[in-house]
Amino acid sequence: MNLEDTPQQAAFRAEVREFIATMVPAQLKGLRQGIVQGPGLKEAQVQPFYDALRSKGWRAPHWPREFGGAGFDEAHMVILTEEFTRAALPGMKDVGLDMLGMILIAYGTKAQQERFLGPTLRGELTWAQGYSEPQAGSDLANLALRCDVTDDGFLLNGQKIWTSKAHIADWLFLLVRTDSTMKKKQDGISFLLLDMKTPGITVRPIHTIDDHHHFNETFFDNVKVPRANLVGELHKGWKLAKSLLSHERFSHPTSDPLVIGRALDNLKGSARALAAGEGMVWDDPVLRRRVTQLDMDVDCLRYTRYRALTKVMHGDEPGPETMMFKMFGAELMQRIVELHAEVMGPLGTIWERSPFPEENGETAKHGANIRAATIRGGTSEVQRNIIAKNVLNLP
Ligand SMILES: Cc1cc2nc3c(=O)[nH]c(=O)nc-3n(C[C@H](O)[C@H](O)[C@H](O)COP(=O)(O)OP(=O)(O)OC[C@H]3O[C@@H](n4cnc5c(N)ncnc54)[C@H](O)[C@@H]3O)c2cc1C
Repeated sequence: MNLEDTPQQAAFRAEVREFIATMVPAQLKGLRQGIVQGPGLKEAQVQPFYDALRSKGWRAPHWPREFGGAGFDEAHMVILTEEFTRAALPGMKDVGLDMLGMILIAYGTKAQQERFLGPTLRGELTWAQGYSEPQAGSDLANLALRCDVTDDGFLLNGQKIWTSKAHIADWLFLLVRTDSTMKKKQDGISFLLLDMKTPGITVRPIHTIDDHHHFNETFFDNVKVPRANLVGELHKGWKLAKSLLSHERFSHPTSDPLVIGRALDNLKGSARALAAGEGMVWDDPVLRRRVTQLDMDVDCLRYTRYRALTKVMHGDEPGPETMMFKMFGAELMQRIVELHAEVMGPLGTIWERSPFPEENGETAKHGANIRAATIRGGTSEVQRNIIAKNVLNLP
């Protein structure tokens, strides 16, 4: 395993640090990291950061240069996210750039690439992802949103659920059932792009326990989609849906050891600041032992990630360890947030307007929000099934 930067990587790291020092406005540094971003941070406030990124080709750093990205390999991506996380900058995640962009680059027609990639990169076109349905979550291939093929395109009737940001997105990329007679349920699925202004779409909010409106149910009633909005081949959309997963090997925010380590530092800060009996909460040796265990787990994640990355840099496959990053990271983050709530005692139940600094003051809200980490992007149970089958070769 190689823990040192090569001279080229060290130069790139210095370039990223220089960029952060000179190009990122002060109010966008030192934000709370994790699932919940800095409170009240509006899109417009983050724009100067995104504009600065675009000027370097770093808004979609993994996109090839010809499409306006930086063409970064995984080592550069890790350095970039490490430095951005260290400076606690706003999140870079965006389904249009991370998911749809990669699909259009790999499978889109030239006309689709020209129409959608530029505006998506410039933030002029925002996207939501329409995959899940009431009977198709973990078992996504079960999806049933009916899509009749017509003379000039498609006609949609049915529903999606958990569609993040569908209430504010301009467009939706979605999986639909174009043929329900095929033997295998993975066949007969197609990948479409849909303008959210099309008549017949109803978006109904789902409010979550942490007070957010992030999710929606999205209904389709005789919604017409032009033929030009089909990506890839008709009935072969499953291949596209699956290819998305391969882009998230190292960069999932819930598996970033720096983000998780920061949550642990916050916990330690609270324990040192809170009085207990004659001393402080931190004086409790049992608590310190539990924190040490969490510290070691963060280190395990960090070094396992470096080991996989070293393999990639030597041109090898990253190995089975990448399969567990998301699951292990998300569960570790939950354990930290739960212990933090314990450390805070009754104060940990304060929902908002806590007297504590922001990063330690909303443990209850963060605790409610972090539950999502082991569900989205594949639940922990299903990840375990995949590891059992594909890595451990269990029956
Ligand atoms: C924060 C967040 C954002 C999301 N954003 C989007 C979005 O933008 N677009 C979108 O389409 N979807 C989105 N989702 C939905 C997400 O993809 C699904 O929640 C996820 O795939 C799980 O599906 P489900 O909720 O239907 O649960 P189910 O699949 O019904 O699972 C219910 C429970 O059963 C367990 N289970 C299921 N199958 C098995 C099995 N074979 N073995 C063992 N246990 C099993 C699961 O682990 C889970 O605990 C989002 C979810 C979250 C939490």
